[in-house]
Amino acid sequence: MAQHTVTLIPGDGIGPETSSAMQRVLEAAGAEIEWEIAEAGAHLMEEHGTPLPQSTLDAVKRNKVAIKGPVTTPVGSGFRSVNVALRKAFDLYVNLRPNISIEGAGGRYNDVDLVIVRENTEDLYAGIEFEQGSSEAAELIEFCASHNAGTIREDAGISVKPISVTGSRNIVKYAFEYAIAQGRKKVTAVHKANIMKHSDGLFLRVAREVAKEYEGRIEFEDKIVDAFCMNMVIDPSQFDVVVLPNLYGDIASDLCAGLVGGLGIAPGANIGKEYAIFEAVHGSAPDIAGQNKANPTAEILSACMMLDYLGEQECAERIRSAVRAVYAEGEHLTGDIRWATGSSKPACSTTEFTDALIAAL
Ligand code: NAD
Repeated sequence: MAQHTVTLIPGDGIGPETSSAMQRVLEAAGAEIEWEIAEAGAHLMEEHGTPLPQSTLDAVKRNKVAIKGPVTTPVGSGFRSVNVALRKAFDLYVNLRPNISIEGAGGRYNDVDLVIVRENTEDLYAGIEFEQGSSEAAELIEFCASHNAGTIREDAGISVKPISVTGSRNIVKYAFEYAIAQGRKKVTAVHKANIMKHSDGLFLRVAREVAKEYEGRIEFEDKIVDAFCMNMVIDPSQFDVVVLPNLYGDIASDLCAGLVGGLGIAPGANIGKEYAIFEAVHGSAPDIAGQNKANPTAEILSACMMLDYLGEQECAERIRSAVRAVYAEGEHLTGDIRWATGSSKPACSTTEFTDALIAAL
């Protein structure tokens, strides 16, 4: 295996615990990775005035590939989110979240095998907002009224939902190319085009145009987001690759995680044309931080996605197969999975789980 240098951002909360478990597993699996550690997190606010110091941005820029633990979003600090800032800084326009059933991990279904491809830079998540009572909000309210665009109550706060042809084309194309590369069969575009004609409607129109380019190779369908949620809960096996604008993608991926056993096993990646940052779907879990209770599977499976990206599929598959073995055996599982499966067996610690995983490699 080739040597790779990767930026590791352990983050805060349970991040340092899941990150060191992930490092142990990759090393035991023979991955030759030199880690450059960079910091991000709420604990840096006092010293740096930001949870995302410039030195961390520089480290990601240098190595182009990073893996990141979760970071708490400080409430009321003025800094919106480390994740949103990283996505913007490196134009990570794709958020990739596979949801694959693992036998023994709980969840309602054992036949889920779908990938959420979420647009990562636009939509209500772009952060264009006008505070209730501000002069900007008042101007916008007046603008809408004078253009017969509808009445907005004068005490409203306003978030803007930009969805562009460029952003939609990029993400839908990525979904189709991903489907081809991974031997998948179908892409489903999810939207609310019947109501939001100029944002979701545009997304759907572009998705249909892109789908034409892949006709005969990849099947295409579209679903209205509410119907999609109902279909997901009834029978998730009908979906394969699902492409969504930012906000629906965020919500749908937690819904999907819930169907396969919870946040503890849900991996993810933020990918751009030049940079990639891999990270679990879950947050910093302050309720269990520092207690050696966190499930590191999600970060370990995110690291497998990183190994795939680095061209080290064999090593990634070795780790995935050890994960499946530990869950199928069911003796060494963390508390979240015991809860999800309704098992009365004792929960094991992060360290015990990691030891069992390394033994199964
Ligand atoms: P969370 O994902 O941190 O926790 C939700 C629940 O799931 C908690 O009960 C937690 O204990 C449990 N959980 C999460 N991951 C787990 C794991 N690996 N093992 C076992 N149990 C796990 O969501 P939250 O409580 O809404 O957010 C906490 C903080 O994390 C917030 O500040 C939020 O902004 C931030 N956050 C960060 C990221 C990120 O950095 N990628 C993502 C989501 C939330």
